[in-house]
Amino acid sequence: MKCFVCNSEAIFEKVVEEKLRVKECKDCGGQWVPFSQYYPWLERHGPIFSELHYSDITHEVIDSQNGKICPDCGRILLRFKVGHDLQFSLDHCNNCNGVWFDKNEWKVIVSRNLHDELPRIFSTQWQKHIQKEERAKYFEEVFNTKCGDQYNRIKDFKKWLDEQELMPSILAFLADTNPYE
Ligand SMILES: [Zn+2]
Ligand SMILES: [Zn+2]
Repeated sequence: MKCFVCNSEAIFEKVVEEKLRVKECKDCGGQWVPFSQYYPWLERHGPIFSELHYSDITHEVIDSQNGKICPDCGRILLRFKVGHDLQFSLDHCNNCNGVWFDKNEWKVIVSRNLHDELPRIFSTQWQKHIQKEERAKYFEEVFNTKCGDQYNRIKDFKKWLDEQELMPSILAFLADTNPYE
């Protein structure tokens, strides 16, 4: 196996969290986690702890964008966003479930307690949730830019409006630009 990122052949086995055997590039620090190692590790690992949404531990991650071929089964790895405020993607083999982590990505995943639930990240449900998160963030940014200081008042108004039984009438009233003419 050659490193996907720096092409180095200095790939060595390394044991990370509680006896999980991965392959690590000595030159760039990237790591390949084969599912054949991950799954037995997960079974031995014991109870799954809940995800931490914040962590004080910060590691610099340079997310590699180049195409990669699975070293175990020869398929193309697909990129999956991690989401939940983590800006990088993981490269995953949909055939044998191996995962490539660029330098420090594994550490960040561990610091958020997501390492014991990796398959969730690659599920359709998780990916859909990320799209929803991104859409909400986008809307927030657009309205914030358009409405500026008034945005919080508008949000309060919307919250109030959502609770009103008369909402359809109120909306009709608002939509009519000149109701008294
Ligand atoms: Zn490398
Ligand atoms: Zn594979």
